[in-house]
Amino acid sequence: MNARQSQSPVGLCEGCAHASRITSNRGSTFYFCKQAAVDPHYPRYPRLPVLRCEAYQPLSSEPAAGEDKQLP
Ligand code: SF4
Repeated sequence: MNARQSQSPVGLCEGCAHASRITSNRGSTFYFCKQAAVDPHYPRYPRLPVLRCEAYQPLSSEPAAGEDKQLP
């Protein structure tokens, strides 16, 4: 397994192809994890910052073949 790590305030979701950024009417920002739709082990709204996630996929990249997925 190759866990990805991040030091940003939001964490890995900020630059993940599986993330959708949602801003509420009150201005709060949430990150919706689309991976939750295909793997129930992932929360729809991960607790931030996500510092380690096996399903992390950088924007504009393809998933690595055979890469395992694990809870963030
Ligand atoms: S797959 Fe991981 S890094 Fe990507 S949006 Fe979901 S929880 Fe965040």
